[in-house]
Parts: sequence; C-alpha cells; structure tokens
Amino acid sequence: MKIGILSRNPKLYSTRRLVEAARQRKHEVRVIDVLRCYMDITAHNPVIHYKGEELTGFDAVIPRIGASITFYGTAVVRQFEMMGVFSVNESVAITRSRDKLRSLQLLSRTGLGLPITTFAHSPDDINGLIDEVGGAPLVIKLLEGTQGLGVVLAETKKAAESVIQAFMGLNANILVQEFIKEARGSDIRCLVVGGKVVSAMERKAAPGEFRSNLHRGGQASLIKITPEERSTAVRAASTMGLNVCGVDLLRSNHGPVIMEVNSSPGLRGIEEASKKDIAGMIIEFLEKESQERKSTKTRGRG
Ligand code: ADP
Repeated sequence: MKIGILSRNPKLYSTRRLVEAARQRKHEVRVIDVLRCYMDITAHNPVIHYKGEELTGFDAVIPRIGASITFYGTAVVRQFEMMGVFSVNESVAITRSRDKLRSLQLLSRTGLGLPITTFAHSPDDINGLIDEVGGAPLVIKLLEGTQGLGVVLAETKKAAESVIQAFMGLNANILVQEFIKEARGSDIRCLVVGGKVVSAMERKAAPGEFRSNLHRGGQASLIKITPEERSTAVRAASTMGLNVCGVDLLRSNHGPVIMEVNSSPGLRGIEEASKKDIAGMIIEFLEKESQERKSTKTRGRG
C-alpha cells in the first residue's frame, strides 16, 4: 500500500513509529505536512498539490492533526477522502471530537457515563450553575483548552464564582463539571483501534496536581480495566465515529465516566507502558480496512 502520514513533524515519536511500522510491513510511506498542501477544490478530479507535485496513488492516510490546525488539517483529509483515499479517521469524526461540548452531548445521548457537566457562556445565575453540579469543589474548563491547560479546580464556592466570572470577562465558553474526587488524580487512557481496546494505561498526576496529563508531569503505568470500562471506551469510539482514538476515563463512584476522546492519541506513553507495537496494530487495521474499501460516508452521529 501507499500510505500518507499527515503530520507536521516527521521527528515526533508517533509519526516516526507509524513510518517504521508501515515500512516493516513493506508499505510505501510518506509524511505529509498538511499546512503545505494546496488543493483545487472545484476540479473534476480532486487533487492535492504538495512541494511542487501532485499527490497521487495513495491507498490510505493516517491523520495526525494537532488541535491548533484542525480547520485546515481536516480540509486536507476531506480532500483525500474525495480522491477515494481511505482515512484511518474520517474528517468529520476528527472535527466532531475537537469540540468538547459537541462530543459530550453526543456521548450523553448514547447514555455513556459522564461527569455531571454544565455549559455556559454568560450565566446570570452563577449560583444556580454551581448548584447544578453539586457545589464546590468543582472543575471549570475552557472549551478550547488542550493538554490540561484551561482546566481549573475550584475548591470553594467563592473560588468557583471568581473563576467563572473571570472566564466570563474573557468572553470564553466554559464547562462547569462535577469534580471526581475519588479518581484521586488518576485517569485511564484506553487506546481503541478498529473497535477494540488494544491497550490501557493509568496516568497518575504529579504530587499536588489533579490533572493527570503526561504533559503536566503525569506518570503512566499499565492497568487492567474492567469489562464495563472496556465497553464504555469502545462505545465512545463508535459514537464519535473514530477508528483509532484514545478514550480517557475516570473511575467515579457512579462507574467509569468519560473525560474526552482524542482522535490523534500520542503513542509514546502507551507503547512504553504496554511494550506493545500499537503503531503496527494501526497499520494492520489499515491493511484490513482499506482492502474492504469501506466508503467514507459519515459514520457516528451528528
Ligand atoms: P484536556 O483536554 O486539556 O486534557 P481534560 O478535561 O482531559 O482536559 O482534563 C485534564 C485532566 O484533569 C484529566 O485527565 C483529569 O486527570 C483531570 N480532570 C479533568 N476534569 C476532571 C473532573 N471533573 N474531576 C476530576 N479530575 C478531572
């Protein structure tokens, strides 16, 4: 197969591993920086131009689109789809997963476990908002945050009011969420490939920190997940319409709750913790799926 890895930086661990895994399986592989692509979107035969040539003959692409380039990145993925190239994750599913609010609404509709969450922009009734999630301590999140930035734990009602007011002053969209104290600074990252959890790791926050993101100093280790956690992760991936994704869960008193679903999960933490060839599993999924030439019709919901 001829595979394109859509990534801005060939040196990143995940990009390197995918290239390596594809080559090991005798595929032709090329890293493509989506921001350098340009496209004629009205042409009868959709094409993509890159570094002075036309990108042709690709069987499949693996989008590794960073949050900051979602808009243009998904447009390039869409163009590949129009050219009949199979994408590991469809452009609409990536766009859907990048919107925290939309994602939570979809997951909630499927009946999956979520922390009690409210969404606000300029609430008149801050007290009502705070009461809705069961009062302080609670978590306030900027809708646009990633890697744990823009996630604030407000320990008291006073602190919660001030932070909500501050975010309101910035004209930001916010989520106000029940604090899952019993997770004790740990979350579970389930890596889903082709409808199966292929590996799961626990990420523990650094001392004095409640956010377990590896970017915030969290530590990863292998964990055995329960059947309920496994099915929650698989259902979350299918609701979002993502073939490859990271589903983050917290262990709450009312069962597993979903934090988020990541359409470009980093491979380093999970491969190091599990010693598994996750990149290889992604390529194998591609081999199987692109042979079946699944159409790129919208899956998932909404
Ligand atoms: P980001 O998308 O920026 O990573 P998350 O919503 O995933 O933001 O939050 C980052 C981390 O903060 C989570 O992995 C989790 O450890 C912690 N966290 C977030 N929300 C809650 C919550 N409601 N209760 C307890 N911990 C939380």
